[in-house]
Amino acid sequence: MSAGVVTPTATTALKDFLNAPASYPRGPQTVKMLRIGKVRDGSKVGVFIYCQEHAREWGTPLVCLETAERLLRNYGVDPETTKLVDNLDIFIIPTINADGAAYSMYDNSAQRKNMVNYCASNPTGNNDPAARNSWGVDLNRNFSVGSLFDGYTGASSSCTSDVFSGPSEFSEPETRNEKYVQDTFTNIKFAMNIHSSGGYFMWPPGAYKGADRVPLAYPPYGTLKYFDQTAASVLDRIKSYRGTTILPTQTGPVNDVLYSAAGNSADEAYYNHGIIGYDFEIGADRFTGTGTAQTEVGFTPPYAPEGHDEGMEFAHGNYALLGSALDYARDTKAPTVTAVGPDISPSSFDVTFSQDEAAEIHYTTDGSAPTMSSPLYGPSHARGRPEPVRIVGTTTLRWIARDFKGNTSTGSRLFQVGGNGGVGGDVPGTLSLSLGPAPSFGAFTPGVDRDYTAGTTATVTSTAGDALLSVADPDTAHPGHLVNGQFALPSPLQMRGRKSDAQGTAFNNVNSLLNLLTWNGPVSNDHVDLDYKQHIGANDGLRTGTYAKTLTFTLSTTTP
Ligand SMILES: [Zn+2]
Repeated sequence: MSAGVVTPTATTALKDFLNAPASYPRGPQTVKMLRIGKVRDGSKVGVFIYCQEHAREWGTPLVCLETAERLLRNYGVDPETTKLVDNLDIFIIPTINADGAAYSMYDNSAQRKNMVNYCASNPTGNNDPAARNSWGVDLNRNFSVGSLFDGYTGASSSCTSDVFSGPSEFSEPETRNEKYVQDTFTNIKFAMNIHSSGGYFMWPPGAYKGADRVPLAYPPYGTLKYFDQTAASVLDRIKSYRGTTILPTQTGPVNDVLYSAAGNSADEAYYNHGIIGYDFEIGADRFTGTGTAQTEVGFTPPYAPEGHDEGMEFAHGNYALLGSALDYARDTKAPTVTAVGPDISPSSFDVTFSQDEAAEIHYTTDGSAPTMSSPLYGPSHARGRPEPVRIVGTTTLRWIARDFKGNTSTGSRLFQVGGNGGVGGDVPGTLSLSLGPAPSFGAFTPGVDRDYTAGTTATVTSTAGDALLSVADPDTAHPGHLVNGQFALPSPLQMRGRKSDAQGTAFNNVNSLLNLLTWNGPVSNDHVDLDYKQHIGANDGLRTGTYAKTLTFTLSTTTP
């Protein structure tokens, strides 16, 4: 041996420090998608279900795989499954983040992001391979709607952050895979992005920006209702498996129930593709004892029994989503909408709408035909109740309603302010000419031609620019005539009004509608005499008893 000469040694394979068995592929993995449906030519409504964007959420691929397995194994056996497969085009990706998933299961169970290294040129020291557990891009922050690059909250530009957005929108092949699916299969109308954990069921908007938390535009109210309606069927189905409930406070737009997630996948689906895109956080806290406390189940519960049960219950939920997609495909029925409120009320009042399905309702109060550009029946703020329609005078409320499929219906209803008791006064709503027992009137005398008169008063207060007092007889059998059971007086009931200034109309027949008095400005406590006249002819047959009529007085305005 001579000094200064290095002795050759056998070559040593460099270790990659990965714990997966040698048989497990080391390179970038191919992400696989299943397409399930009897007719797969794009003519059927498409549903996109995808899992495990976040590597450590181990329960999620079970949900996707269980859903796929049921659809294939039970086809032709289970009628529901057969119907879904025959009529839908179902796309399922069990693992979006395949590299991260392998790393999470074999090496670092807390791995959330994908396996790319954007810290290589980072000067802060996180470029050392020992820091590799902090590398990677949060795939659910790498999309293009409401992204960090657009100024939205809930993602980071730090290469080691758990919510690292990546260097640009769609920088990652995993997110471009999702974009490819949605760009290519334009029949996809519903999507479910399955995450874990905590039990949240959410939809757009999922990002806001600035100190004022300005959100992405909320979907139209009718569409939000549709998200809600479909969600309800999914939640019911999940609960049916083992009683797991998703709390109402954890159901709704991401912004409202969780946080801002800049550049997330569901916002991409909805805002860029018009897809009813949901986010689900499976692994809901569970009521396992007898009290009200819930038990957390975490990202990576053991397969038996928790992981298995989560796969089963949320596959149940996916079946409900598929059922809703099928309902959508077959929906040719227009929404049934009714206006809810009294026909008439002494003072202004509120009217709401009831509907048998999610629908966008627009209305007018000026009698014109409503369009989808007319005022919207909806809340004034996120998660609010719809603002009612205020009725301030005689109003024909007309509406048009459109369901999410596009089926439309129209309707109208007349509302009035006034009537029994009048406005701010005491207009008698029930006019009873006390024929017979009423001593002030005396009795109608059969066989004697004579005019009988009676009177009452009213007090009118109006803050409107003008006002009209009218009287109507809603009776359709004998409008404008006093009746006693099946008998009506032959001569019409007449009325006139006299204001405090002694001005007013002459006697006219009370019919289906008679205008009595008008005011050209606001008035307070104006005294009104309401005079009634009834003619009895010499040959009129009179039936024993009380002749009466219930009349409707209306104070209305064209300038409320
Ligand atoms: Zn997640």
